Amino acid sequence: IGGGRDRLRIAIQKSGRLAEPARALLTACGLSWRESRDRLFCYGESLPIDLLLVRDDDIPGLIRDGVCDLGVVGRNVLVEQDIALTRTGAGPAFAELRALGFGACRLDIAVPDTWDWQGPPQLAGLRIATSYPAILQRWLDDQGIEAGVVELSGSVEIAPKLGQAEVICDLVSSGATLAANQLRPATTLLQSEAVLAGPAHAFDDARGALAELLLRRLDGVLRMRNSKLLMFQAARDDVPALLPLLPDAESPTVMRLDGDDGLALQALCHGAVTWQRLEELKRAGARGLMVVPVEGMLA
Ligand code: ATP
Ligand code: MG
Repeated sequence: IGGGRDRLRIAIQKSGRLAEPARALLTACGLSWRESRDRLFCYGESLPIDLLLVRDDDIPGLIRDGVCDLGVVGRNVLVEQDIALTRTGAGPAFAELRALGFGACRLDIAVPDTWDWQGPPQLAGLRIATSYPAILQRWLDDQGIEAGVVELSGSVEIAPKLGQAEVICDLVSSGATLAANQLRPATTLLQSEAVLAGPAHAFDDARGALAELLLRRLDGVLRMRNSKLLMFQAARDDVPALLPLLPDAESPTVMRLDGDDGLALQALCHGAVTWQRLEELKRAGARGLMVVPVEGMLA
């Protein structure tokens, strides 16, 4: 793989939690690729934007070494490696360009579920097992706590059972893994999700324009993914009570119904349209509520 300066190369996870959503997101941005036989490199066809399929832990290093220009990686991995590199005195190595809205999880301290959790000072003098030693150590320093950091590359949740540590610091999404190991979340060190990462400095060649184009498309796709068209009818008198329930909506279109003094309303909502919200609208007088996904949008 040569180091072409007129093509953009994005590292994504080859397989795992972020692999499929990362590709789907880039596909939604209009990218398409021809896959190589080894399935490690995908050559960009619609645009000169190629993919390199790798292990997620390798992504920050590939960006730093200039092998890849951008990467889709969990914030947890990016921040961990950024702290570790910054400590060597090189200054911040990476920039988080966009949060991508998938792969959400937290980096939590988890304690045995029999414990009466009193707060961080309780960790003093204990051993904490983690795959994120840099983030953990920075947090301990910020809290002024001295504790042992036991670095493990996997299966952190069984460390207390094996007597390697008293508590752990690990990624949590549902909490089911913790519960299965008689642990429970005590405090959160980092809220994570998949992010688009790049180098700390802007590109000074053709890649700059390509990255800009990709970011603009990405913003459109991310905005659209969260957008829903909400349609309903209501009596004129109920409208003042209904509008405050749509704080995330662009100014709604209001139409008069033919042969009726009711109104039909259409609002593009940029936040989550949950069942609860629909029920609130209904209680406030909305009738015939309909939620329509948005396929395309050009502002
Ligand atoms: P690889 O083979 O690429 O090294 P991996 O096993 O390290 O894969 P995955 O388990 O696929 O990685 O997780 C990738 C990312 O998904 C994590 O770094 C994290 O950002 C995110 N994620 C979301 N929910 C969870 C979770 N419950 N546990 C672990 N990671 C999660
Ligand atoms: Mg990994």
